[in-house]
Amino acid sequence: EPSVQTENRPKVIAFANQKGGVAKTTTTLNLAVAFAEKGNRVLCIDMDPQGNLTMSQGIDPDTVERSMYDVLVHHMSIREVIRKREIDIACASIDLAGAEIAMSAQIGRERSLQKALRAVAEDYDFVCIDTPPSLGLLTINALTAADKVIVPVQCEYLSMRGLIQLQNTLQMIRENLNPDVEIEGILPTLMDTRTVHAKEAIEILEENFGDRVFASRIKKTIRFAEAPVKGMSVLKYDPDGMAAQSYRDLATEVLANGKR
Ligand code: ADP
Ligand code: MG
Repeated sequence: EPSVQTENRPKVIAFANQKGGVAKTTTTLNLAVAFAEKGNRVLCIDMDPQGNLTMSQGIDPDTVERSMYDVLVHHMSIREVIRKREIDIACASIDLAGAEIAMSAQIGRERSLQKALRAVAEDYDFVCIDTPPSLGLLTINALTAADKVIVPVQCEYLSMRGLIQLQNTLQMIRENLNPDVEIEGILPTLMDTRTVHAKEAIEILEENFGDRVFASRIKKTIRFAEAPVKGMSVLKYDPDGMAAQSYRDLATEVLANGKR
C-alpha cells in the first residue's frame, strides 16, 4: 500500500460542507497530521475567518500579522504567511472576514488561491484547505484550487438538502472554473455508536452516495474538544487513542484511493 504521495505537484484537498459544526476543521487538521506521520510534506490552509484551524495549532488569529487575507487580497506570497507547527499552516486572521468583499471587484477573484499555490507546488505532497460554513467566495476559491473535496457530515443531523446543494455548487465549479474537481469522499463524523439514529443516517448516506461514503467513520469523543485547547492535533494529544487511529485509517484510505 502506498504511504506517500509521489507526484511532483501536491494533491490539493478542500474540506467543505456549508453546515457548521460537522468537523471540517477537526478533519482538516487531523487528516493532515496523519498524512505527515506517514512521511508526506503537508500544508494546511485556513480559509475560515473564524480561524479555528489556526487556533487549533496554538496560533491566535487576532494577533496574526500576515494572513491569507494578504495572500488573497494583496497577492502576497503564500510563503510569507506559513508558520511551522505540527504541519505547515497558512494562517487566517480576523480580517479574512472582509476578504470576500475586498476580492469581489478583482478580475480572477475565484482563482486567487489556485494562483497562490503555484509558489509552493514543489514543496508539498498534500495541501489541505479548511473552508468556512458557507458557499461564498472563500469556499469557491478553495474548490477552484482543489483536486478533491472531502465532505464531513455529522451523522445525527444529516442534511441531505445541504449535500445536494454542495453537489450543485461543485457542478457549477466544474462547468466554469475547475473541470476536474471531484468528491474524494463523504466522511461520517461525530458518530454516536450507541444510537440507532447514527446507523440509520449512514444507511441513508450509502443509499444516496454509494461508495463515495468513506469506509472510515469518526466516533464522538471528548478528545477532539480537548486537543485544540492545547494547540494540538489528537494524533499528538492522544497518540495511542482510537480518535487518532480513526484519522490514520482515513489517511490510509485516501492514499489507497490514488493520486488524483
Ligand atoms: P466545523 O469546522 O465543521 O465547524 P469543527 O471541526 O470545528 O467543525 O467541530 C465542531 C466541534 O465539534 C468542535 O468543538 C470540535 O472539537 C468537536 N468535534 C469534532 N469532531 C468531534 C468528534 N469526533 N467527537 C467529539 N467532538 C468533536
Ligand atoms: Mg471550522
